[in-house]
Amino acid sequence: MYILLMGPPGAGKGTQAERLIDKYNIPHISTGDMFRAAVSQGTELGKEAKRYMDAGGLVPDVVTIGIVREGLSKPECANGFMLDGFPRTEEQAVALDGILKELGIKLTGVININVPDSELVGRVTGRRICKQCGATFHVSFNPTKVEGVCDKCSGALYQRNDDKEETVKNRLQAYHAQTEPLIEYYSKQGVYTEIDGLQAIDKVFADVVAALESK
Ligand code: ADP
Ligand code: ADP
Ligand code: ZN
Repeated sequence: MYILLMGPPGAGKGTQAERLIDKYNIPHISTGDMFRAAVSQGTELGKEAKRYMDAGGLVPDVVTIGIVREGLSKPECANGFMLDGFPRTEEQAVALDGILKELGIKLTGVININVPDSELVGRVTGRRICKQCGATFHVSFNPTKVEGVCDKCSGALYQRNDDKEETVKNRLQAYHAQTEPLIEYYSKQGVYTEIDGLQAIDKVFADVVAALESK
């Protein structure tokens, strides 16, 4: 399974990715997670990425393409991967085609989780993430049994720096201007499926699996 998950901020990419990597036993390549790890480690990459992330803009293509190329070239990606949050621009999509061609890989499916903007602000501002294991929850839509404590590992939950209402607006703008046009790009390649992301998490997952297994 060579899976690409697309969708606006808060659509449920990370939530579905967590389940898909368990089901198919494939590595999770999330550019957002990679950038957040670099920021928390205080690396040069992290310092550069943080400026864009905090403003709700996209990190420059050269930087982003470089880290994805490095990730996909690792041997553990040879038999499958779950790419989440990349590509987000046409330049990234073209670069990805080139990388996959070099590696001799064809995408199994490009899944777009579709959720209207009106729903996304509440999803993003209510999102909480486990510091220890990275699991994603929501204060109302997917709450933990004990407030602030991860159900999976008992780690403490935190809120992302960019999950504030002001920043979300910029992120949605970036999505519509730069990422949404990729729907057309992948439709033309015949690998594209759109999933209704307004459904319950389990139903979205069932639909994603059905779409992938029909490919
Ligand atoms: P979300 O889960 O809300 O869709 P991500 O965790 O995927 O957000 O990304 C968080 C931030 O990291 C983005 O707002 C952007 O600044 C940066 N980022 C992540 N992926 C990319 C990418 N493919 N290209 C450029 N910037 C990216
Ligand atoms: P993305 O990675 O696309 O930004 P996430 O998977 O982090 O999105 O989900 C954003 C927030 O919405 C999280 O708090 C998550 O628990 C919640 N969420 C995810 N899927 C659904 C769903 N189908 N219905 C309601 N809330 C959801
Ligand atoms: Zn945890």
